[in-house]
Amino acid sequence: MVLMKIDFEEQRRRLVRKLKEQGIIRSKSVELSFLNVPREEFVWPDTKNRAYLDMPLPLGNTGQTISAPHMIAIMLEELDLRKGEIVLEIGTGSGYNAALMAYIITDGKREKNGKVITIERIKELVTFAENNIKRTSYSEYIKVICGDGSVGYPPYEEREIYDKVIITAAAPNFPKILIKQLKVGGIILAPLGDLFSQILTKGIKRPDGTLKIKRDIECIFVPLIGENGYNF
Ligand code: SAM
Repeated sequence: MVLMKIDFEEQRRRLVRKLKEQGIIRSKSVELSFLNVPREEFVWPDTKNRAYLDMPLPLGNTGQTISAPHMIAIMLEELDLRKGEIVLEIGTGSGYNAALMAYIITDGKREKNGKVITIERIKELVTFAENNIKRTSYSEYIKVICGDGSVGYPPYEEREIYDKVIITAAAPNFPKILIKQLKVGGIILAPLGDLFSQILTKGIKRPDGTLKIKRDIECIFVPLIGENGYNF
């Protein structure tokens, strides 16, 4: 049997070209992050050959997924990340989105100030993501925490800590504690809706603590499970 070696770099370049042509990747920073973070290092090993198909992929038997590249690109463009920012992500999954964000806020690992704090409730995925992040040399810029991210991090602390907050799971609404932990002028982004369909929703925090809301596209995510998410 002849085993064909997959040219992941070529597949990565082709995917980025397609997402740009579709008008999904619009900024240089998101483009560079997609070109430099190897998605094949974050998918479950048995799906490696599908790493660059534009579709969500299962993360083993955990019932969770790594989101489709186009969905991740849409969210990253909306999040408008800047160098040196401090970002909270709820839903680490594979760690891929955390690595893309780390790439952007550290300007390709040149800037030391940016940091991603990412929270995952499933222990098996915490270990999986930590290994992926270590193998791709992002550990210095990403802290993975095991727990319920719907109560914020540090849990319940009512202090403005983050420039950006991203929830990569379907939530009924923006948890109040996450708005409290967002700085004024900061962005919170999440798929909001019921368990079957959501609208990607962006909130920009005003000085009085309320959010200016923008609703974007329809999407389908796995649920945010926890105190301020869905309770099963
Ligand atoms: N961002 C991930 C990536 O790049 O692979 C994909 C995230 S996946 C669509 C959603 C993740 O949210 C799942 O891994 C799930 O276990 C996690 N999750 C759900 N509720 C959570 C909660 N309350 N706190 C932390 N993680 C949660």
